Amino acid sequence: RCATPSTTMANQDSTNPSHDLFEQFVQAQTCKEVQRIFSELCHHLQVDPRDYQSFYTKLKERLNYWKAKSLWVKLDKRAQHQDYQQGEVCAKNKCLVLGAGPCGLRTAIELALLGAHVVVLEKRDSFSRNNVLHLWPYTISDLRGLAAKKFYGKFCTGVLDHISIRQLQLILLKVCLLLGVEVQTGVEFKGFVEPSGATGWMAKLFPDNHPAGKFQFDVFISAGGGSFVPYGFKRKELRGKLAIGITCNFLNRHTAAETQVAEISGVARIYNQKFFQDLLTETGIDLENIVYYKDDTHYFVMTAKKKSLLKMGVIKQDFSDADKLLAQVNVDQEALLRYAYDAAQFSTGHCLPDMQFAQNHAGQPDVAMFDFTCMHRAENASLVRERKGKKLLMGLVGDCLVEPFWPLGTGIARGFLAAFDTAWMVRSWGKGRPHMEVLAERESIYQLLSQTTPENTSKKYSAFSIDPATRYQHVNLNSVKAFQVKRLYDVEDHL
Ligand code: FAD
Repeated sequence: RCATPSTTMANQDSTNPSHDLFEQFVQAQTCKEVQRIFSELCHHLQVDPRDYQSFYTKLKERLNYWKAKSLWVKLDKRAQHQDYQQGEVCAKNKCLVLGAGPCGLRTAIELALLGAHVVVLEKRDSFSRNNVLHLWPYTISDLRGLAAKKFYGKFCTGVLDHISIRQLQLILLKVCLLLGVEVQTGVEFKGFVEPSGATGWMAKLFPDNHPAGKFQFDVFISAGGGSFVPYGFKRKELRGKLAIGITCNFLNRHTAAETQVAEISGVARIYNQKFFQDLLTETGIDLENIVYYKDDTHYFVMTAKKKSLLKMGVIKQDFSDADKLLAQVNVDQEALLRYAYDAAQFSTGHCLPDMQFAQNHAGQPDVAMFDFTCMHRAENASLVRERKGKKLLMGLVGDCLVEPFWPLGTGIARGFLAAFDTAWMVRSWGKGRPHMEVLAERESIYQLLSQTTPENTSKKYSAFSIDPATRYQHVNLNSVKAFQVKRLYDVEDHL
């Protein structure tokens, strides 16, 4: 008798090493593992990822694996969108992306789809952030479109609308690699090497002999996070009233008892006075708000009142300066752990059994205290710098452009919107539009970013693309005029 199709396929899977490698790549759970298996897979199939324009097509052909089909269907659908013009529109552009956080990787994917040669630089060599990000409905739809569920089966199951930072990075890293993006980890961007007669814009790196230092580019995107602002960009400080955030993560053993405990998708003081009053009476902990998400870990983020942190001995001495107040020497780590633990216990009705802190990148209990009093926002999102007749388009995305207030979960939502807007800018650049027009359009769109909410952005998620008109309800691409952005064009003759 003939074997059933499924047995034939199963036999095929177990005997074909490239299929096995592909499965391992899909399942890989660390940044290093993803990179190692990917390079083995390429080696085995004899496809060169440096051949970025035809890499994806060749990989698909040579792998010829039925289990990969659902992934190709998704990625093909995305790649065929008219905005990318079959990857021709930026075929001549070379893009350097700084930072392999979620926003750097998401931008890199769009630039690759536009046909550009994309190199991502990341100073860390591991993805270790347990903290969990809230996702707006459009980001869930966007990530589904990139086959997030294939890489992470638990992605947004049921009503869940969040993901840990590291899982999100892993998904995006895998998509980047499949699309021919070069992701270099363990290398730090230190500044620019200006063009000389023969060479174009290059990067100063640490270690300084890193091969990516030879890459010449005409587009530079900074996605270096909240504390990184490249030379030439200015930031505005938005100073609010003192806000002290605490994040903590506990091991999730995925037991039945843990599964039963309800998430808290945001209890703010104004909505539930009694909850916070009871918390204060029972534990001495005084919070403005608290969020609890069950993900790879049990994750909590809360905003704590200074007075209670002082009273509970978490902060040793009172200072009006937030940096001094939260300086390591002024924080009692044990008391902080206790504070976070008690808040987590109380807010889950003491129902989480055997709570044990997860570890952070340093092998310590994953609890951290952050100052949200000052949030930064870049004054502008783009610049063009010209030296020796060679122009460099620069853009900011993610936290580096607008710092989010974590308890509200705006980081990824606005971060991805900026990633798409930035890709739209690079598309105009690739099309050869005059640089002042490119800058004026980017700044026009940037004016909308800080006001965006799930309610005032389009609900047609399936139609979202890098074209701003598909996402923002009222977008005027000419609200900023070219003459208003003269200062964003830095050319040496004018210095
Ligand atoms: P990031 O995710 O910060 O990524 C920036 C990347 O750039 C980093 O990987 C960094 O190593 C790299 N980098 C920086 N400088 C250089 C350089 N010179 N050379 C090479 N690489 C460089 N948001 C929440 O909603 N909830 C949370 O609980 C939460 N916790 C966080 C905890 C930490 C420690 C941090 C840093 C951020 C946290 N955030 C949280 C913010 C959230 O991670 C971001 O909003 C989100 O990841 C999008 O950010 P991004 O990609 O713009 O930047």
